[in-house]
Amino acid sequence: MNDVDVVVVGAGVTGLTAAVRLREAGLDVVVLEARDRVGGRLLTETVDGVRLEIGGQWVSPDQTALLAMIDELGLTTYPRYRSGESVYIGRDGVRKTFHGDAFPVPAETAVEIKRVAAELDRLAAQMDPLVPWDHPLAVELDQMSFAHWLSSQTSDQEARDNIGLYIGPAMLTKPAHTFSALSAVLMAASAGGFAHLLDADFILDRRVDGGLQEVPLRLAARLEGLVRLSTPVDQISWDGTSAVAGGYRARHVVLAVPPTLVNRIRFAPALPPVQAQMRQHQSFGLVVKLHITYETPFWREEGLSGTAFSPYALVHEAYDNSNEDVAGDDRGILVGFVSDVRADALLALDAGTRREEVLTSLAAYYGPGALSPVAYYESPWQSDEWTAGAFGTSFDIGSLTRYGRHLRTPVGPLSFVSSDVAGLGFQHVDGAIRMGEAAAAAIVEQR
Ligand SMILES: Cc1cc2nc3c(=O)[nH]c(=O)nc-3n(C[C@H](O)[C@H](O)[C@H](O)COP(=O)(O)OP(=O)(O)OC[C@H]3O[C@@H](n4cnc5c(N)ncnc54)[C@H](O)[C@@H]3O)c2cc1C
Repeated sequence: MNDVDVVVVGAGVTGLTAAVRLREAGLDVVVLEARDRVGGRLLTETVDGVRLEIGGQWVSPDQTALLAMIDELGLTTYPRYRSGESVYIGRDGVRKTFHGDAFPVPAETAVEIKRVAAELDRLAAQMDPLVPWDHPLAVELDQMSFAHWLSSQTSDQEARDNIGLYIGPAMLTKPAHTFSALSAVLMAASAGGFAHLLDADFILDRRVDGGLQEVPLRLAARLEGLVRLSTPVDQISWDGTSAVAGGYRARHVVLAVPPTLVNRIRFAPALPPVQAQMRQHQSFGLVVKLHITYETPFWREEGLSGTAFSPYALVHEAYDNSNEDVAGDDRGILVGFVSDVRADALLALDAGTRREEVLTSLAAYYGPGALSPVAYYESPWQSDEWTAGAFGTSFDIGSLTRYGRHLRTPVGPLSFVSSDVAGLGFQHVDGAIRMGEAAAAAIVEQR
């Protein structure tokens, strides 16, 4: 048995940030990681000769913890390609092009979108995303689905479908009837306001040169061999003063894994009932991230930015994701997303039919050129046992107020963190860094 001050379980950004900060404070740390690589939900990989961001990739201006980390690690960023017109397909099925973030919807729908968005922003401004259960309307909002809340706000179907898209399929990656209005307000508050989620140029602003996985790779490099790969932790025994995990005895164990995976570990003694109950009410959303590569970014020649949206299309959003940072790579890459119930249906098809359906959906935005890619890839997070969904986890209806205040409560020597329990940066890399730093600070304070 090896003795250390802290065992960190999970070498995603949360765990690696915690480990680096603990080490800087002079503590003896080891990181145990189930996979044979670091980065968790961040993976930059070359597939069929194309460098792809299989997991997270975008950075927005409000994500100050991530931006500071990018600087600290000596990384640089570049803006997502966005010159030209965007495409929107509305309820009437008609394809329209537009500039800016206001969709070309009927005038009365535009008024309703603006009004309901302002109401969401007002509710978000009343919330500290770290403690959403303290919102003045927390119980009321947590007891109704977001779909129900939207119906109570406007009778305009296209306005509801658009606002619903931004929080449902595009963010929590669940249908709007399966999570609460409070969870929707949390999503908005954690991003600094709903207006930010509506503005693709803000929320999907920049990319990291070399890929976002450079963040965990460089953090791991700072730990100089203290990360043990291919070391899944399946059992933790603990008492009031220490814990044993993966052959290490430590005064603290930081479980830097998604809440759904905490439940796969056997604890001896068992965690208090509220802990086990709570995590049965948190679940991953489902979204298939699609990477489609073309000989050239043909849409640019037609004056299109590559940005496309439709609450009514299989691929509900898509962007130009060409690798601007790779010298000499002139290929055009589109990234698209198929979410929740549409993803269920897509994943039930065979590979050839899936590809055909996706390309047909893209052709409705970009024209027939979209039907002839040189490479096609679907990120497989839903079938990866160390994630099992995407992008992150969220609570079912009523559970944020019922359990939320236990989310970050340590149990004896055990603490529980990941981007899924963040306030600012919830479900994002920014939140992972904030949670990793907070977990480390709490341990250092107890020294
Ligand atoms: C497709 C996709 C797109 C995304 N897009 C963006 C984006 O553009 N911008 C953004 O900011 N965020 C994005 N995200 C979210 C972002 O990637 C995550 O919020 C963040 O990476 C989570 O970091 P984490 O360390 O909290 O958790 P994870 O990355 O999940 O890390 C947890 C680690 O723990 C390990 N682990 C789990 N169980 C055990 C165990 N029992 N023993 C040992 N190790 C274990 C896992 O293997 C993993 O390495 C995206 C995510 C996905 C999947």
